[in-house]
Amino acid sequence: MQTPDISRAKSAELFEKAKQYFPGGVNSPVRAFKSVYGTPLFIERGDKAHLWDADGNQFIDFCCSWGPLILGHNNDQVREAVAAQLSKGLSFGAPTALENELAELIIENNKYIEKIRFVSSGTEAVMSAIRLARGFTKRDKIIKFDGCYHGHSDSLLVKAGSGLVTFGETSSAGVPKAFADETIVIELNDTAALEAAFAEFKGQVAAVIIEGIPANNGLLLQTKEYMHFLREITKTNGTMLILDEVITGFRLGFEGAAAYYDIQPDIITYGKIIGGGMPVGAYGASRELMACISPDGAVYQAGTLSGNPVAMAAGIAALKILAQKDFYTNLNAKTATFVQDIRSYIAEKGYQVQLFSVASIFWFAFTEQQDIKKASEINPASMDAYKIMHRELLNRGVYFGPSGYEVGFISEAHTESDLDTAKKHIFEALDIVFNG
Ligand SMILES: *Cc1c(COP(=O)(O)O)cnc(C)c1O
Repeated sequence: MQTPDISRAKSAELFEKAKQYFPGGVNSPVRAFKSVYGTPLFIERGDKAHLWDADGNQFIDFCCSWGPLILGHNNDQVREAVAAQLSKGLSFGAPTALENELAELIIENNKYIEKIRFVSSGTEAVMSAIRLARGFTKRDKIIKFDGCYHGHSDSLLVKAGSGLVTFGETSSAGVPKAFADETIVIELNDTAALEAAFAEFKGQVAAVIIEGIPANNGLLLQTKEYMHFLREITKTNGTMLILDEVITGFRLGFEGAAAYYDIQPDIITYGKIIGGGMPVGAYGASRELMACISPDGAVYQAGTLSGNPVAMAAGIAALKILAQKDFYTNLNAKTATFVQDIRSYIAEKGYQVQLFSVASIFWFAFTEQQDIKKASEINPASMDAYKIMHRELLNRGVYFGPSGYEVGFISEAHTESDLDTAKKHIFEALDIVFNG
């Protein structure tokens, strides 16, 4: 059933060359294909739901640049807005009307934040939000959850130690132990662990940070009850709740996971979709909290390229489309059908794989467990099956993220025909995973 090997000669050659220039041949680690078969495909161009690699192979793309491309590749309005801005200049280091326009678009459509600050990545947004929480509360410790990713700033490159409530251990060389000592790591979906952490570190916790919906280590859907418990316990303890909506912001809707769970976070971080494919991040909060940020307040935060006009133009064009009536209803309905058809096939065949999904996000988990809410519930051995599926899909022209811990995204540009073709290949790939 194996399809003949597609030529990857040019990608392979480019990767050999890249290895001379970059650690692991890449500028972000997961791109290196360490968790799947083969070597990275070098991408030449994208259009709508499709990618073309350096060898001319075409793929239906479900990685979508890790989430930003909710409109697919080469969207006409976004491209034209960027092109129009290009001829006016790339960067001024002074305010532009474009920043106002994007901020207005966001704040008018989002009741959870009153003021915003633009930065250039999700990492930067989260790092700044943590500083704001610490500056406001005058406390140092933060709580994060095992299985949530918040970018690569020092305080957050920390993993769980052993035990219910522990100081984190650094998950990267180069992070001072003193930083890890300020970060407490606990399991998701565990109210007792939260209570224990607040009891042990009473009056010391500046913030709890959680992903809107954890989607960087599988898709770990939390319950509304748990999220409300988290809101209450943080409020009681004078601790800021930071909702990291770098993936869920503008993916679940303009009001993201805050509206999905119906909770009011203290600080929200954005990235990915907000820049329409350009490097933009942001953090937002109430007027009172944002008054702590320089130059109004004592929490310093700055950026040479913050609010970059070309990136703002892309963000405005993209968000204007997302703000249209029924955008999310249509995208989510399309995803629901896709997911349901695959689930039916899985059930019919009796395969031990789950397809978790919310809005236009999905994740295959090769397990019989119906419910996965914590990182520790994911069996690392199940990733072997993902590797096979990934290889078979690539051979058939379907591009999934190169790790079984990564979720897939569906964009507005995925047509019914794209999704039908992809489904057929997913069925074939699953047959090979389970029957050889
Ligand atoms: C991607 C991501 C980040 C980091 O964003 P970068 O733009 O890669 O720095 C932070 N938090 C979450 C939830 C993310 O998904």
